[in-house]
Amino acid sequence: MDFGNIMGSVTRREILRGAGALAGGWALSHCFPGALAGAAPRLPRQAGAKPAGGLAEARARFAGVPIESVKLSDKLTLLTGPGGNVVVLNGPDGKLIVDTFTQLAWDRFKKTLDDLGNAPLKFAIDSHWHWDHTDNNASVRAEGATLIAHANTLKRMSESHDLDILNLHFDPSPENALPQRTFKESFQLNFSGEHVALGYLAPAHTDSDIYIHFQKDNVLHMADVFFNGMYCYIDRETGGSIHGMIAGASKMLAMIDKNTKVVPGHGPLGNKADLRNFRDMLVLARDRVQKLKDAKKTLDEAVAAKLFSDLDPVWGNGFLKGDTFTRVVYTTL
Ligand SMILES: [Zn+2]
Repeated sequence: MDFGNIMGSVTRREILRGAGALAGGWALSHCFPGALAGAAPRLPRQAGAKPAGGLAEARARFAGVPIESVKLSDKLTLLTGPGGNVVVLNGPDGKLIVDTFTQLAWDRFKKTLDDLGNAPLKFAIDSHWHWDHTDNNASVRAEGATLIAHANTLKRMSESHDLDILNLHFDPSPENALPQRTFKESFQLNFSGEHVALGYLAPAHTDSDIYIHFQKDNVLHMADVFFNGMYCYIDRETGGSIHGMIAGASKMLAMIDKNTKVVPGHGPLGNKADLRNFRDMLVLARDRVQKLKDAKKTLDEAVAAKLFSDLDPVWGNGFLKGDTFTRVVYTTL
Protein backbone atom coordinates (compact mmCIF):
# COMPACT_ATOMS: atom_id res chain seq x y z
CA MET A 1 0.00 0.00 0.00
CA ASP A 2 1.43 3.32 -0.94
CA PHE A 3 0.53 5.72 1.81
CA GLY A 4 1.94 8.50 -0.28
CA ASN A 5 -1.16 8.15 -2.43
CA ILE A 6 -3.32 9.32 0.41
CA MET A 7 -1.65 12.69 0.17
CA GLY A 8 -2.21 12.84 -3.54
CA SER A 9 -5.20 15.11 -3.50
CA VAL A 10 -4.16 17.37 -0.65
CA THR A 11 -2.72 20.58 -1.93
CA ARG A 12 -0.56 22.86 0.13
CA ARG A 13 -3.23 25.54 -0.16
CA GLU A 14 -5.85 23.16 1.22
CA ILE A 15 -3.63 22.23 4.14
CA LEU A 16 -2.92 25.86 4.91
CA ARG A 17 -6.64 26.62 4.92
CA GLY A 18 -6.98 23.85 7.50
CA ALA A 19 -4.19 25.40 9.52
CA GLY A 20 -6.19 28.61 9.64
CA ALA A 21 -8.64 26.82 11.87
CA LEU A 22 -5.97 26.77 14.56
CA ALA A 23 -6.82 30.31 15.49
CA GLY A 24 -10.38 29.18 16.07
CA GLY A 25 -9.25 26.99 18.93
CA TRP A 26 -9.09 23.48 17.53
CA ALA A 27 -5.60 22.22 17.01
CA LEU A 28 -4.87 20.88 13.59
CA SER A 29 -4.30 17.24 13.99
CA HIS A 30 -0.99 15.49 13.98
CA CYS A 31 -2.03 13.96 10.74
CA PHE A 32 -0.29 15.87 7.97
CA PRO A 33 2.70 17.76 9.29
CA GLY A 34 4.81 16.38 6.46
CA ALA A 35 2.55 17.99 3.92
CA LEU A 36 2.40 21.20 5.93
CA ALA A 37 6.15 21.39 5.74
CA GLY A 38 6.01 21.03 2.00
CA ALA A 39 7.64 17.63 2.12
CA ALA A 40 7.05 15.11 -0.62
CA PRO A 41 5.47 12.00 0.84
CA ARG A 42 5.47 10.23 -2.52
CA LEU A 43 9.23 10.09 -2.68
CA PRO A 44 10.69 6.77 -1.63
CA ARG A 45 13.23 6.95 1.14
CA GLN A 46 16.25 4.81 1.65
CA ALA A 47 15.89 2.33 4.45
CA GLY A 48 16.80 3.96 7.73
CA ALA A 49 16.78 7.50 6.35
CA LYS A 50 14.74 9.98 8.31
CA PRO A 51 12.48 12.54 6.66
CA ALA A 52 13.82 16.06 6.77
CA GLY A 53 12.27 18.29 9.39
CA GLY A 54 9.58 15.91 10.46
CA LEU A 55 8.81 15.92 14.13
CA ALA A 56 10.82 19.04 14.97
CA GLU A 57 8.87 21.04 12.39
CA ALA A 58 5.59 19.57 13.54
CA ARG A 59 6.39 20.57 17.12
CA ALA A 60 7.30 24.07 16.01
CA ARG A 61 3.93 24.47 14.30
CA PHE A 62 2.10 23.72 17.53
CA ALA A 63 4.32 26.02 19.59
CA GLY A 64 2.24 29.12 19.02
CA VAL A 65 -1.22 27.60 19.26
CA PRO A 66 -3.05 29.15 22.21
CA ILE A 67 -4.44 27.01 25.03
CA GLU A 68 -8.15 27.63 25.52
CA SER A 69 -10.08 26.49 28.54
CA VAL A 70 -13.68 25.23 28.87
CA LYS A 71 -15.10 24.46 32.31
CA LEU A 72 -16.89 21.09 32.28
CA SER A 73 -17.83 20.89 35.98
CA ASP A 74 -16.53 22.11 39.35
CA LYS A 75 -13.67 19.61 39.11
CA LEU A 76 -13.15 19.13 35.38
CA THR A 77 -11.72 21.43 32.72
CA LEU A 78 -11.21 20.90 28.98
CA LEU A 79 -8.05 22.41 27.48
CA THR A 80 -7.78 22.73 23.70
CA GLY A 81 -4.86 23.95 21.59
CA PRO A 82 -1.34 22.64 21.00
CA GLY A 83 -2.13 18.95 20.47
CA GLY A 84 -5.03 16.62 21.16
CA ASN A 85 -7.70 17.75 23.60
CA VAL A 86 -6.73 17.59 27.29
CA VAL A 87 -9.05 17.08 30.28
CA VAL A 88 -7.91 18.10 33.77
CA LEU A 89 -9.42 16.72 36.98
CA ASN A 90 -8.57 19.01 39.90
CA GLY A 91 -9.67 18.07 43.40
CA PRO A 92 -8.60 17.48 47.01
CA ASP A 93 -6.28 14.54 46.19
CA GLY A 94 -4.46 16.46 43.45
CA LYS A 95 -4.68 16.72 39.68
CA LEU A 96 -5.15 14.09 36.99
CA ILE A 97 -4.79 14.88 33.29
CA VAL A 98 -5.78 13.07 30.12
CA ASP A 99 -3.13 13.63 27.42
CA THR A 100 -0.16 15.96 27.55
CA PHE A 101 -0.07 18.32 24.49
CA THR A 102 3.11 18.88 22.45
CA GLN A 103 6.58 19.63 23.80
CA LEU A 104 7.10 23.29 22.94
CA ALA A 105 3.83 24.15 24.69
CA TRP A 106 4.94 22.63 28.00
CA ASP A 107 5.67 25.90 29.85
CA ARG A 108 2.24 27.30 28.95
CA PHE A 109 0.57 24.00 29.73
CA LYS A 110 2.22 23.88 33.15
CA LYS A 111 1.20 27.47 33.89
CA THR A 112 -2.39 26.68 32.89
CA LEU A 113 -2.38 23.70 35.26
CA ASP A 114 -0.85 25.79 38.06
CA ASP A 115 -3.47 28.50 37.55
CA LEU A 116 -6.20 25.92 38.24
CA GLY A 117 -4.87 25.48 41.81
CA ASN A 118 -1.94 24.38 43.94
CA ALA A 119 -2.78 20.69 44.08
CA PRO A 120 0.07 18.51 42.78
CA LEU A 121 -0.16 16.59 39.50
CA LYS A 122 -0.57 12.99 40.57
CA PHE A 123 -1.74 11.10 37.48
CA ALA A 124 -1.53 11.47 33.72
CA ILE A 125 -3.31 9.23 31.23
CA ASP A 126 -2.35 8.74 27.57
CA SER A 127 -5.49 8.25 25.45
CA HIS A 128 -3.34 6.50 22.76
CA TRP A 129 0.27 6.45 21.56
CA HIS A 130 0.25 9.32 19.02
CA TRP A 131 2.78 12.02 19.70
CA ASP A 132 0.37 14.96 19.81
CA HIS A 133 -1.25 13.30 22.84
CA THR A 134 1.92 12.05 24.59
CA ASP A 135 4.67 14.53 23.77
CA ASN A 136 5.02 15.92 27.32
CA ASN A 137 5.02 12.55 29.01
CA ALA A 138 8.56 13.02 30.35
CA SER A 139 7.69 16.45 31.74
CA VAL A 140 4.58 15.24 33.56
CA ARG A 141 6.54 12.32 34.99
CA ALA A 142 9.21 14.78 36.15
CA GLU A 143 6.43 16.64 37.98
CA GLY A 144 5.84 13.45 39.95
CA ALA A 145 2.82 12.16 38.05
CA THR A 146 2.26 8.45 37.48
CA LEU A 147 1.60 7.77 33.81
CA ILE A 148 -1.20 5.34 32.90
CA ALA A 149 -2.00 3.95 29.44
CA HIS A 150 -3.07 0.90 27.49
CA ALA A 151 -0.40 -1.78 27.14
CA ASN A 152 -0.21 -1.10 23.39
CA THR A 153 0.66 2.56 24.04
CA LEU A 154 3.73 1.34 25.91
CA LYS A 155 4.44 -1.13 23.10
CA ARG A 156 4.04 1.40 20.29
CA MET A 157 6.06 4.09 22.08
CA SER A 158 8.83 1.56 22.67
CA GLU A 159 9.11 0.85 18.93
CA SER A 160 10.30 2.95 16.04
CA HIS A 161 7.70 3.93 13.46
CA ASP A 162 7.76 5.43 10.02
CA LEU A 163 4.36 6.88 9.34
CA ASP A 164 4.78 7.71 5.70
CA ILE A 165 1.45 9.46 5.33
CA LEU A 166 2.59 11.88 8.02
CA ASN A 167 6.13 11.86 6.71
CA LEU A 168 7.23 11.40 10.29
CA HIS A 169 9.80 9.10 11.81
CA PHE A 170 9.58 8.15 15.45
CA ASP A 171 12.47 6.68 17.40
CA PRO A 172 11.56 4.62 20.43
CA SER A 173 10.64 7.02 23.24
CA PRO A 174 13.10 7.36 26.11
CA GLU A 175 12.30 5.35 29.22
CA ASN A 176 11.34 8.44 31.20
CA ALA A 177 8.54 9.22 28.70
CA LEU A 178 6.92 5.79 28.84
CA PRO A 179 3.75 4.84 30.72
CA GLN A 180 4.50 3.30 34.12
CA ARG A 181 1.20 1.54 34.70
CA THR A 182 -0.59 -0.25 31.88
CA PHE A 183 -3.71 -2.34 31.41
CA LYS A 184 -5.30 -4.44 28.69
CA GLU A 185 -9.06 -4.23 29.22
CA SER A 186 -10.00 -1.81 31.98
CA PHE A 187 -8.62 0.23 34.83
CA GLN A 188 -10.47 2.22 37.47
CA LEU A 189 -9.49 4.70 40.12
CA ASN A 190 -11.23 6.84 42.73
CA PHE A 191 -9.40 10.12 42.86
CA SER A 192 -10.17 13.72 43.81
CA GLY A 193 -13.88 13.10 44.19
CA GLU A 194 -14.27 11.26 40.90
CA HIS A 195 -14.66 7.69 39.79
CA VAL A 196 -12.49 7.45 36.69
CA ALA A 197 -13.16 4.42 34.48
CA LEU A 198 -10.71 3.60 31.69
CA GLY A 199 -11.56 1.02 29.04
CA TYR A 200 -9.98 -0.38 25.91
CA LEU A 201 -11.54 0.35 22.56
CA ALA A 202 -10.64 -2.56 20.29
CA PRO A 203 -8.42 -1.35 17.40
CA ALA A 204 -10.12 1.75 15.97
CA HIS A 205 -7.97 4.85 15.27
CA THR A 206 -4.91 2.81 16.43
CA ASP A 207 -4.57 -0.37 18.47
CA SER A 208 -3.92 1.62 21.67
CA ASP A 209 -7.11 3.72 22.04
CA ILE A 210 -8.88 3.97 25.37
CA TYR A 211 -11.85 5.92 26.68
CA ILE A 212 -11.71 7.81 29.96
CA HIS A 213 -15.07 8.18 31.70
CA PHE A 214 -15.44 10.56 34.63
CA GLN A 215 -18.55 8.86 35.89
CA LYS A 216 -19.73 11.23 38.63
CA ASP A 217 -19.64 14.35 36.45
CA ASN A 218 -20.63 12.39 33.32
CA VAL A 219 -17.72 13.47 31.11
CA LEU A 220 -16.22 11.11 28.52
CA HIS A 221 -12.87 11.56 26.73
CA MET A 222 -12.81 9.37 23.61
CA ALA A 223 -9.22 9.67 22.34
CA ASP A 224 -9.10 10.02 18.54
CA VAL A 225 -12.00 7.62 18.08
CA PHE A 226 -14.09 10.80 17.86
CA PHE A 227 -13.23 13.82 15.70
CA ASN A 228 -16.12 16.22 16.30
CA GLY A 229 -17.59 17.68 13.13
CA MET A 230 -14.89 16.62 10.68
CA TYR A 231 -13.53 13.69 8.72
CA CYS A 232 -11.04 11.71 10.80
CA TYR A 233 -7.61 10.27 10.27
CA ILE A 234 -7.19 6.52 10.86
CA ASP A 235 -3.72 5.08 11.51
CA ARG A 236 -3.65 1.88 9.51
CA GLU A 237 0.02 1.28 10.30
CA THR A 238 -0.68 0.69 14.00
CA GLY A 239 -3.90 -1.25 13.63
CA GLY A 240 -6.59 1.34 12.87
CA SER A 241 -9.58 0.61 10.61
CA ILE A 242 -12.87 2.20 9.60
CA HIS A 243 -14.74 -0.83 11.00
CA GLY A 244 -12.99 -0.32 14.34
CA MET A 245 -13.84 3.40 14.38
CA ILE A 246 -17.53 2.57 13.86
CA ALA A 247 -17.46 -0.15 16.53
CA GLY A 248 -15.75 2.18 19.01
CA ALA A 249 -18.18 5.04 18.44
CA SER A 250 -21.15 2.64 18.72
CA LYS A 251 -19.82 1.17 21.97
CA MET A 252 -19.56 4.66 23.48
CA LEU A 253 -23.06 5.63 22.26
CA ALA A 254 -24.44 2.64 24.18
CA MET A 255 -22.58 3.71 27.34
CA ILE A 256 -23.56 7.38 27.58
CA ASP A 257 -26.73 9.45 27.87
CA LYS A 258 -27.97 12.70 26.41
CA ASN A 259 -26.36 14.72 29.20
CA THR A 260 -22.86 13.26 28.78
CA LYS A 261 -20.21 15.79 27.80
CA VAL A 262 -18.21 14.03 25.09
CA VAL A 263 -14.63 15.22 24.53
CA PRO A 264 -13.23 14.29 21.11
CA GLY A 265 -9.53 13.85 20.44
CA HIS A 266 -9.82 16.83 18.10
CA GLY A 267 -12.55 19.40 17.62
CA PRO A 268 -14.90 21.18 20.00
CA LEU A 269 -16.69 19.67 23.00
CA GLY A 270 -19.56 17.45 21.85
CA ASN A 271 -22.52 15.46 23.11
CA LYS A 272 -24.28 12.21 22.30
CA ALA A 273 -26.01 13.66 19.23
CA ASP A 274 -22.66 14.89 17.84
CA LEU A 275 -21.12 11.46 18.37
CA ARG A 276 -24.10 9.78 16.70
CA ASN A 277 -23.79 12.09 13.69
CA PHE A 278 -20.09 11.25 13.44
CA ARG A 279 -20.76 7.50 13.70
CA ASP A 280 -23.51 7.69 11.09
CA MET A 281 -21.18 9.58 8.73
CA LEU A 282 -18.56 6.84 9.16
CA VAL A 283 -21.15 4.15 8.36
CA LEU A 284 -22.26 6.00 5.24
CA ALA A 285 -18.67 6.50 4.13
CA ARG A 286 -17.74 2.86 4.73
CA ASP A 287 -20.79 1.55 2.86
CA ARG A 288 -20.19 3.76 -0.16
CA VAL A 289 -16.52 2.83 -0.41
CA GLN A 290 -17.22 -0.85 0.21
CA LYS A 291 -19.63 -0.89 -2.71
CA LEU A 292 -16.90 0.34 -5.05
CA LYS A 293 -14.36 -2.07 -3.60
CA ASP A 294 -16.82 -4.91 -4.15
CA ALA A 295 -17.08 -3.77 -7.77
CA LYS A 296 -13.25 -4.05 -7.98
CA LYS A 297 -12.74 -0.33 -8.40
CA THR A 298 -9.21 0.86 -7.71
CA LEU A 299 -8.31 3.46 -5.10
CA ASP A 300 -7.98 6.16 -7.73
CA GLU A 301 -11.32 5.19 -9.29
CA ALA A 302 -12.98 5.39 -5.88
CA VAL A 303 -11.57 8.88 -5.34
CA ALA A 304 -12.62 9.98 -8.83
CA ALA A 305 -16.20 8.86 -8.07
CA LYS A 306 -16.56 11.82 -5.63
CA LEU A 307 -18.46 9.65 -3.20
CA PHE A 308 -18.67 12.25 -0.45
CA SER A 309 -19.55 15.42 -2.34
CA ASP A 310 -22.83 15.73 -0.39
CA LEU A 311 -20.99 15.24 2.93
CA ASP A 312 -18.11 17.62 2.26
CA PRO A 313 -19.90 20.89 3.17
CA VAL A 314 -20.44 19.57 6.71
CA TRP A 315 -17.49 17.23 7.32
CA GLY A 316 -14.80 18.49 4.96
CA ASN A 317 -13.98 21.77 6.70
CA GLY A 318 -11.61 20.44 9.36
CA PHE A 319 -8.42 19.41 7.65
CA LEU A 320 -9.29 16.37 5.54
CA LYS A 321 -11.23 16.93 2.36
CA GLY A 322 -13.53 14.31 0.87
CA ASP A 323 -10.96 12.96 -1.60
CA THR A 324 -8.41 12.38 1.13
CA PHE A 325 -10.98 10.84 3.44
CA THR A 326 -12.02 8.49 0.64
CA ARG A 327 -8.41 7.31 0.53
CA VAL A 328 -8.30 6.86 4.30
CA VAL A 329 -11.50 4.79 4.26
CA TYR A 330 -10.50 2.74 1.20
CA THR A 331 -7.11 1.82 2.62
CA THR A 332 -8.47 0.83 6.04
CA LEU A 333 -11.37 -1.30 4.76
ZN1 LIG B 1 -4.23 10.11 16.98
